[in-house]
Amino acid sequence: MRYVEVILPVPLEGTFTYELPEELAARVEPGMRVLVPFGRSKKYVGVALRIHNEQPGFKVKPVIQILDELPVLLPQQLELWQWISRYYLSPIGEVYKAALPAGLKAEEGYRPKTETYIRLADKMRDEQSQRIGHDILKNSPAQQEVFTAMSERGQDIARDELMNVTGCTAATLRKLIDRGFLATCEHEVGRLGQGGEPHPEQAKPLSAAQQKAYGDVLDEMRTHDTVLLHGVTSSGKTEIYIHLIQKTIDEGRQVLFLMPEIALTVQMMERLRRVFGNRLGIYHSRYSDAERVEIWQKQLSDEPYDVILGARSAVFLPFRRLGLVIVDEEHETSFKQQDPAPRYHARSVAVVLARLYGAKTLLGTATPSAESLSNAQNGKYGYVSLAVRHAGLELPEIQLVDVKDLRRRKMMRGPFSPQLIDAMRETIEAGQQVILFQNRRGFAPMIECRTCGWVPRCKNCDVPLTWHKRLNILTCHYCGYTQAIPEKCPACEEHDMQSRGYGTEKIEDLLTDLLPEARIARMDLDTTRSRHAYEHLIADFSARRTNVLIGTQMITKGLDFDHVRLVGILDADAMLNQPDFRAYEHAFTMMTQVAGRAGRKGRRGLVVLQTRSTDLPVIGQIVGHDYTKFYHDLLQERRDFHYPPYTRLIYVYLKHSKDTIVETAGIEMGNRLRQWFGSRVLGPDKPAVARVKTMFIRKLVLKLENSLDTWKVRHYLALARQQLLADKRYAALQVYFDVDPL
Ligand code: ADP
Ligand code: ZN
Ligand code: ZN
Repeated sequence: MRYVEVILPVPLEGTFTYELPEELAARVEPGMRVLVPFGRSKKYVGVALRIHNEQPGFKVKPVIQILDELPVLLPQQLELWQWISRYYLSPIGEVYKAALPAGLKAEEGYRPKTETYIRLADKMRDEQSQRIGHDILKNSPAQQEVFTAMSERGQDIARDELMNVTGCTAATLRKLIDRGFLATCEHEVGRLGQGGEPHPEQAKPLSAAQQKAYGDVLDEMRTHDTVLLHGVTSSGKTEIYIHLIQKTIDEGRQVLFLMPEIALTVQMMERLRRVFGNRLGIYHSRYSDAERVEIWQKQLSDEPYDVILGARSAVFLPFRRLGLVIVDEEHETSFKQQDPAPRYHARSVAVVLARLYGAKTLLGTATPSAESLSNAQNGKYGYVSLAVRHAGLELPEIQLVDVKDLRRRKMMRGPFSPQLIDAMRETIEAGQQVILFQNRRGFAPMIECRTCGWVPRCKNCDVPLTWHKRLNILTCHYCGYTQAIPEKCPACEEHDMQSRGYGTEKIEDLLTDLLPEARIARMDLDTTRSRHAYEHLIADFSARRTNVLIGTQMITKGLDFDHVRLVGILDADAMLNQPDFRAYEHAFTMMTQVAGRAGRKGRRGLVVLQTRSTDLPVIGQIVGHDYTKFYHDLLQERRDFHYPPYTRLIYVYLKHSKDTIVETAGIEMGNRLRQWFGSRVLGPDKPAVARVKTMFIRKLVLKLENSLDTWKVRHYLALARQQLLADKRYAALQVYFDVDPL
């Protein structure tokens, strides 16, 4: 008897064994989808992983059906899934759920898109009937004309197209159909746009400095699988990528181009499409599921896209002959999936994917992550630096504004310093544009009773509610819970609620009062819920239909606008004061990146950086564009305090609806882990937000030497979890791991 190990979309460890009836055994291959029974009455679409003769020690059910003629996953994808599952301690079923578009997971999930076509009715297919038909219609010239056109054409034609070419009305068509001359039918049409010409434009010639960096990248790739390209903002990294992509596809291999944020793919798509036309495919979560299924199938076909541009989930797409993976803005934390499992980092997965294909990986950024930089320093990665902006442009001037002092002298106007206001006025008058960065969405992070200090909090989570003024609600950014704004304070009954802090919405309101002439737009999660919202915001700003763009971290990344003269960083302290050992790294990165949006063409740009912490070394390093010193200090500190990249972290989370249970479970888990890991285990502690979506949380931290065996560590973690959950008291406890957390 033959058996098959099947991956099922369930959050349980391991694969499931099924029997293969003889006729199915002949057809099945790893990577094909199979329909299998599960539990009492369920059926699932699973993926065949391995076919074997090893009879299991328990009774197994047979596979019901094989759903594919060819595998939908290539061997490399199956390997990648297994690596993710093992490395990130996540059931392979969770990887399956994250990787496959829904249409491939469900039995009948994917429906091809169809369009109504018109054809000659069956009895009108021969010439004689057509001649008779023609005569019958002689008193209805409009119908006759359409019928003649169809007879001459002989082939089906889309209904809309037919109406276009013949100029006939819907009524005329209807009559011909009703009278049995014509008939309708549905034709399958692809959802993927044509994407333009095959080779519309040449890549831009590289400058001498870029050419040198390009050559260095290729040199480094001779001896390293992964290369870090550290090029300052607007140095032309993208132009270098374009040349590398060109070279790779000329050699007959494919390229995967990963970006951290969907907002960015919009501009990048335009730049790549100009050169690669219809050889470029786009893949990310804002595409409809049906479109994603079609791209997936195209990648399996004999004519796959040569280049795929995508966000995180594009690492799961099948490739036939991958040659290069580019991870742009490699420092970006949004490459890490936080929730749900698998909590993978797309940069790490990309490196593993490339290795499976014998391909190279290029990590590009102006502000490398500590991890990548240290990998470059210890020789694991190649390193190439590009220290000058293209066309001899200077990096922007960064003007430091001491908010503490201005507040003391009562010179701040809300969140705006006089320096920033003046600079904004000047910039707009000169026909140039402004970007304002505030990393908080909504109107105000919280509201508060002015009399007694009461703050409305989420009923499901341990956080204050954010005020969204446009929607006139209070909402929780953790669980989405919303409620109306209380008219009076429930604690003291006073009618005196006021907002505290500044979200992007409030900045927008205040700025509208301050600069009534300016056209202001806002880009944050709330204004970009629809797929086209990004495109509109970016297109309007590109075309200078808006003067000021206010945004959260979404606007700090990689955007390339020609006319931005001024960037305002409203509140540097919010970033610097995060309770996280990465706070300075993130602050440096975000501020350097957003500063890099200024002065990308023409005159030198200006950045106004508002902070209370003017004396912090990191602020001085941002102002002075002093990467060398910043990274030197950063890595030194990480080494001294045994933080990544000099150790590895794994967080263990426990969740339960009862605080008492999660409390004892946390202590017990700590004890179990200490048997093997000793003082490498810290906690359990309550995390900063100790209750989310009605679940109480405890967190343990494992700080592990880089020299420890990765797989042994995972073995013990899985064991501890399994032993803990075997206890009946913990039946409803959730235990999960966050490997290499951010
Ligand atoms: P980065 O990706 O390093 O931030 P970009 O590739 O976006 O830099 O380059 C910044 C701007 O300069 C872009 O508008 C780009 O088109 C332009 N640019 C860069 N290099 C060249 C070049 N060699 N020829 C023409 N324009 C260039
Ligand atoms: Zn009150
Ligand atoms: Zn909540």
